[in-house]
Amino acid sequence: MSELRQDLTTREWVIIATDRARRPQEFTATDGGKKAAQLPPYSETCPFCPGNEKFTPEENFRINQVGKSGPSDWQTRVIPNKFPALSPKSELTRLPDHIFNRVNGYGYHEVVIETPFHNRPLALMEVGEIEKAIQTIRGRYEAMRADPKVRLIVVFKNHGRAAGTSLEHPHFQIVGVPIVPGGVRSRIEVAERYYDDTGNCVYCAVMEHEIKDKERIILETEYFIAFHPFASRMPFETWIMPCGHITSFGGPQPDLPSTLAPVLKQVQAKLYHGLNDPDFNLILHTAPLADEDAPYYHWHIQILPRLTLQAGFELGSGIYITTALPEETAKFMRDIPVN
Ligand SMILES: [Zn+2]
Ligand SMILES: [Zn+2]
Repeated sequence: MSELRQDLTTREWVIIATDRARRPQEFTATDGGKKAAQLPPYSETCPFCPGNEKFTPEENFRINQVGKSGPSDWQTRVIPNKFPALSPKSELTRLPDHIFNRVNGYGYHEVVIETPFHNRPLALMEVGEIEKAIQTIRGRYEAMRADPKVRLIVVFKNHGRAAGTSLEHPHFQIVGVPIVPGGVRSRIEVAERYYDDTGNCVYCAVMEHEIKDKERIILETEYFIAFHPFASRMPFETWIMPCGHITSFGGPQPDLPSTLAPVLKQVQAKLYHGLNDPDFNLILHTAPLADEDAPYYHWHIQILPRLTLQAGFELGSGIYITTALPEETAKFMRDIPVN
């Protein structure tokens, strides 16, 4: 029998199709684009590789390699997206069109190149390198946060062709938008209502339960937990959440890069080795800037491996059908040895 499960944090439902369920190891990625292991460390034609800086828009942030300062000696580098969805060069003006809302494309759209190596995804990076990548993202997050016209900052990564990336070289993207979209608004409203009813943060409640239950936990440190959510939308959906109740990814949190880096590394390495470098989207969910002091929201990372395809039913109903049990995939992840 299949079952329907509800995500407490969104009130959305999923169908866990246990009749069609596959064993966790059956999700190993076999097709898609080239895997990191097949790529060279440097590509002459890649605009993100060191030495090719002239092919990108002018950078607005970098961390150099220790003790080096040459033009190509960077460890991380941030550039405006060459084809930005939004730009800070435009004005923020509302241009209503009869009954429709319209705002011109004000905002930020930047690319964080987190490694000089063409073939080194997060799973293969050193923890110290990931720490620098997080520092870089935080630096740009703070810069966008300082602009009062920005309402929400979205940090994400598309890894692999099935996740929508067009460039092989590992990179994150950060988009600062001048509006709060309905999906984010809805998450906030669900969290606010839960807080009104219980006096608790819904994310803290989920986390406390998962820690007690243990079945869906992948790993736990003093600062973060990683788990497969009860109502996973897709096989191996993974959430990483700070154990302390922290509303926003932004603001002064000096220990964040060093405490998050080892957890992100472990989770990525387990996916990489356990499922043969699957394509995935990584999304950082954080409070809109106006809600940063709200007691009911809790920032977290969601990793969505693209191992199955969504189709008409998902688009039409918003109900995802997933063909794996998160209890089984979490156990599979726990058992994958990584250093
Ligand atoms: Zn490259
Ligand atoms: Zn919380």
